[in-house]
Amino acid sequence: LDLREEDLAIGKPMGEGAGGTVVKAMHRPTQTPMALKFIRADYNIRQQILKELQILHECNSPYIVSFYGAYPKDNGVRVCLEYMDLRSFDRIYRKNGPIPVPVIGKVTFSVLQGLKYLYEDLRVMHRDIKPSNILLNSLGFIKICDFGISKEMVNSIANTFVGTASYMSPERMNGGSYTVKSDIWSLGLTLMELALGRYPLKVEGELMSIFEMLSYINTEALPQLPEDKFPPALCDLVSKCLIKDPAKRPALKDLLAHQYTRECAVAKVNIEQWAASIVIADF
Ligand code: ADP
Ligand code: MG
Repeated sequence: LDLREEDLAIGKPMGEGAGGTVVKAMHRPTQTPMALKFIRADYNIRQQILKELQILHECNSPYIVSFYGAYPKDNGVRVCLEYMDLRSFDRIYRKNGPIPVPVIGKVTFSVLQGLKYLYEDLRVMHRDIKPSNILLNSLGFIKICDFGISKEMVNSIANTFVGTASYMSPERMNGGSYTVKSDIWSLGLTLMELALGRYPLKVEGELMSIFEMLSYINTEALPQLPEDKFPPALCDLVSKCLIKDPAKRPALKDLLAHQYTRECAVAKVNIEQWAASIVIADF
């Protein structure tokens, strides 16, 4: 697919994130709806980002949002992605309440499969697992997006980053070296958030700096999912993801072999039917 700006009919903005704005668009020649992401980047590193993104043309997984192409635009790079019509899980739970347990099971399974593809086939870690980077479409597919494929893109976003440390693992906040185990921590917090219908670590609406987050995590006992309200196997998986010491935290292969994941893999859940019942937030 040869993407050209003049072939895209730009639609309405879908959200403002750490990295920039996401807008909906229609690729007229193929009638493909797309999500366009703009990444601000200095002139000299735009080519580098575009080069690093090339590998995404070979990325082919039902658990990862497809990449259509990218090109330089204004003072940055425009990235054209598969449009996921039901958007991200943060919006979904804010509008519809906590995500039903059977759906959480499929989210768990899908994210783990997506991470497996990233680690084994693309050899990258995700670095930004959170509810807004897990997307849903009305066919019932659950896919991850916004992973750190491009070193320069990660840097560019980090340079303009003003958000919180909400999903960062303690070892990453500490500024030390971090690994794929960091994604596992973020997944634990994310699953807990979807189950409870709120961010689990803090008073609603209160933003924490890295420093505040670290002292919170070091001093407070981490919350757990209540075993009387959720499947014990889910509670166990989440609490293992949130082990503070990365050496003791399970690796991806341990989670893929976890009882909860194996149950979810074979569970019959009609995500398409659930997807048809939810309200999409227009904010
Ligand atoms: P963040 O992930 O921090 O919220 P982003 O800039 O990545 O910020 O995305 C902004 C919003 O746009 C997301 O919350 C999500 O709802 C929506 N979005 C991002 N990518 C897509 C996509 N491919 N399809 C549909 N919606 C998307
Ligand atoms: Mg995102």
